[in-house]
Amino acid sequence: MGRYTEASCKRCRREGHKLFLKGDRCHMAKCPIDQGAPPPGQHGQRRSKMSDYGTQLREKQKLRRMYGLQEAQFRNLFERALKARGITGEKLLQMLELRLDNLVYRFGFAPSRKAARQFVTHGHIEVNGRKVDIPSAICKEGDVIRVRDRAQSRQYAGQWMENAESRGISPWLILNKVNFEGTVAKVPTREELAPTINEQLVVELYSK
Ligand code: SF4
Repeated sequence: MGRYTEASCKRCRREGHKLFLKGDRCHMAKCPIDQGAPPPGQHGQRRSKMSDYGTQLREKQKLRRMYGLQEAQFRNLFERALKARGITGEKLLQMLELRLDNLVYRFGFAPSRKAARQFVTHGHIEVNGRKVDIPSAICKEGDVIRVRDRAQSRQYAGQWMENAESRGISPWLILNKVNFEGTVAKVPTREELAPTINEQLVVELYSK
């Protein structure tokens, strides 16, 4: 599978938004976006009016990069959202949020989605009491995500949980710090998801 090699902060600068790709550094004052860094490249600061297609494409890239998905994976998820009952854009956002790697990140068991993905792949996580090492697994309401009861697993997660808690846990999630486990209390509503994203632009792009 392909992987990103471009510097994380450069991707944020490209989109002009914080994508939270670098863990704790993203919450510090030295984040280039917070410091007003321009888009990358020789002509990064040059402003030009974007076409409708350009606007839709940038929104899709922003969302895809935020969750660290390759184009094919993202497109597959969109197709699933399209077939699901409900509003496609909202379904897409919900599926992205309910991915196991994202939940591991949200509960603070890992500092970034990228680190969470590796944590899952390396077998440190169980869902409803069973080991799951597939980061793209979509969880559902009531699922319990737990760091496995192994010294190595809990030591790793423990070091990040404090910071995550101080940033706040999403209202649709319940964290039990003592047991190293988190529960999906409910499927998040649109209002509880990605406020900076206009998912309708993504739907329009893929509907062409
Ligand atoms: Fe870099 Fe994180 Fe800031 Fe993005 S949000 S520019 S990855 S520090």
